[in-house]
Amino acid sequence: MEIDSALLHSKLKTFFGYDAFKGDQEAIIRNLIEGKDAFVLMPTGGGKSLCFQLPALVMPGTAIVISPLIALMKNQVDVIRGFEEKTIGIAHFLNSSLGKAQIQEVRQDLLSGVTKLLYVAPESLTKEENIDLLKEIKISFYAVDEAHCISEWGHDFRPEYRRIRDMIQTIGKAPVIALTATATPKVQSDIQKNLGIMDATVFKSSFNRPNLYYEVRDKVDAEKDIIRYIKQHPGKSGIIYCLSRKKVEETASLLSINGIKALPYHAGLDAKTRAENQDRFLMEDVDVIVATIAFGMGIDKPDVRFVIHYDIPKSIEGYYQETGRAGRDGEAADCITYYSYKDIQKLEKFMLGKPISEQEIGRQLLMETVAYAETSQCRRKMLLNYFGEDYPKDNCGVCDNCVNPKPTFDGRKEMCLAIRLIKSLPEHFKIEHLAMVLSGRSNAMVKSYKHDTLPLFGEGKDHSDRFWSAVIHQGLLLHLLGKEIESYGLIYVTEKGEEFYSNPWEIRLVEDRVFVGKDSDDDDDDAASDKAAMRGGGGDPVLLSMLKNLRKDMSKRLNLQPWIIFGDPALEDMSILYPITFNELHSCQGVGEGKARKYGKEFIELIKAYVEENDITRPAEFVVKSAPTKSADKIFIIQSVDRKLSLEDIADARSMDMDKLIEDIEGIVSTGTKLDLNYYIRQVIDDDIVEEIFDYFKNEASSDSLEEARAALEPDYDELEIRLVRIKFLCEVAS
Ligand code: ADP
Ligand code: ZN
Repeated sequence: MEIDSALLHSKLKTFFGYDAFKGDQEAIIRNLIEGKDAFVLMPTGGGKSLCFQLPALVMPGTAIVISPLIALMKNQVDVIRGFEEKTIGIAHFLNSSLGKAQIQEVRQDLLSGVTKLLYVAPESLTKEENIDLLKEIKISFYAVDEAHCISEWGHDFRPEYRRIRDMIQTIGKAPVIALTATATPKVQSDIQKNLGIMDATVFKSSFNRPNLYYEVRDKVDAEKDIIRYIKQHPGKSGIIYCLSRKKVEETASLLSINGIKALPYHAGLDAKTRAENQDRFLMEDVDVIVATIAFGMGIDKPDVRFVIHYDIPKSIEGYYQETGRAGRDGEAADCITYYSYKDIQKLEKFMLGKPISEQEIGRQLLMETVAYAETSQCRRKMLLNYFGEDYPKDNCGVCDNCVNPKPTFDGRKEMCLAIRLIKSLPEHFKIEHLAMVLSGRSNAMVKSYKHDTLPLFGEGKDHSDRFWSAVIHQGLLLHLLGKEIESYGLIYVTEKGEEFYSNPWEIRLVEDRVFVGKDSDDDDDDAASDKAAMRGGGGDPVLLSMLKNLRKDMSKRLNLQPWIIFGDPALEDMSILYPITFNELHSCQGVGEGKARKYGKEFIELIKAYVEENDITRPAEFVVKSAPTKSADKIFIIQSVDRKLSLEDIADARSMDMDKLIEDIEGIVSTGTKLDLNYYIRQVIDDDIVEEIFDYFKNEASSDSLEEARAALEPDYDELEIRLVRIKFLCEVAS
């Protein structure tokens, strides 16, 4: 078929409105028009769809596009239909969502030759009536989108994808183009083999995202760290990924409590809430979305400035995809991951429930993630190497390891020892196995091969197996060692490695990083004692007395008791944290948002002036407010009170006793959230009593202490009455 470049460009302009092709697009399209198979590896956003849409429109016949997601299909079909108003039949999709009449319409358009593109789900392609229909029409080519679904080593294996080749053979021969955004050399080989396109022209774009900064942090106090990070980047859009729905919910509510506009997103939410939360993120009504990996498919928000992995992803593919959602606009963006080996162990345990073959694959992928997390090498280099791409520089300047390089050592001797071991074995083994043997550690696998009797067993016992696996990983980056593609993960010595071995040159190696990885889930006690320690004074005494004077002043002016303005703990926090914005003030103890705004202005001004005059460096760290009750309960209580349910009913619904409920309500109120309990108080307490107790707090009490109040008011009034009115008072006056 004769199609010159000018014609292709004019079609590009008329159909898509673009003046030029992006990257390899033109070469890919020409290759297809010439009737050759193609394998296209292009990162998300690279412009894959155009590589099959444009040729489909210009080539005779109908192109079959196999795609796993119904939603994406609809989307693409709508876009193409927009090109030619007269014939919506130009693009169709066939999947299980269609009714009889719709299928009939597709049929007619296919047979009459109007349809240039037909999107099908792989499972629809196996249906006999569909096959029979497709046999009758001329096929221009087959496009297999998201082709990594073919491979068990990809991050989204779909068994139906394995049958595509058979289907194609039954329907009729035509060129095949396979496209994916993530493929390791192993996945690429699986795809080509499985589709029978070993001779396909391979088009690989670079996976480097130069504007992304990669960092892995020790998972210690991660929540606090995340809150601090977000507060340092106010108003910026970001995504936080967690592995479990529960963690998503908890984190989203913790962020909200700390004054960050955040919403959760996971597959357990109903469709309406999910769509709403996603929209509010896209419309910038909220800054942060906390999500499981269910979030992000097809999301194209260009200005996501940070992607945080609260939990380590299960594979590097997943990690690359998720971090890839940052910085689509090409501006700088941060990718921060919290890592703890404990999380890895959790993931491993979780895998035990799966079939053995899947477990083995899952474990291998996980080990790659561990190597990535623990490395002291350039992260960009590691990532690109994982996708079979070479990064030419040693220091990219835009990852934590390049910004803070670790000292290196001349690793000639060590590398040679590793190579000697690999060469001495008749078979190839995985990194962990080799590292165990070198360090002289034994496990079932080492024993079963009798490798604990090898002369080289323990030859490197001065170092740990961790050290040795770092050496081998770096051997891979230096191309002295290679990884077998077929039997995934087995290590061999490359030609370059042989050269090095017979005549070693200097190589600079680094040891891996050590992560403490104490998960903050487990150290609530520490956090509590930290806080207690901070509360015990230790603040700036001069500032504290100035703050107290100001409070006295205001209390006279406003005719309010001093503690109603701010309690002592709040003033102490101010003298430690030097807050100079409402938001920061809000992180002091007992200072709700309302209170900060109502009474805070003069305090902030005083602190600001004090900080400037005395040249004080303010602490970057703020005391993080923790959720006072389990967040689900909290939300339930707030909602129920809004709906004016009786406290008895609320307690019943949560199967808690009244005492616990009141305690929870006190907790909620103490963080500055206002609850209007008047509807209930009116019913159960006499107006006069309410007035008297209220009066006590307003005019007599010297603090909001419940004990003090009980000492002063009992036995005339009972505890429940005192507590309820105290809550009313805290909400109406003191916050
Ligand atoms: P992928 O499927 O690789 O993630 P898409 O096909 O969705 O990428 O394309 C990504 C973006 O690039 C889309 O907004 C698309 O309109 C745009 N695009 C594709 N080709 C071109 C081009 N030649 N010139 C300008 N923009 C393009
Ligand atoms: Zn780097």
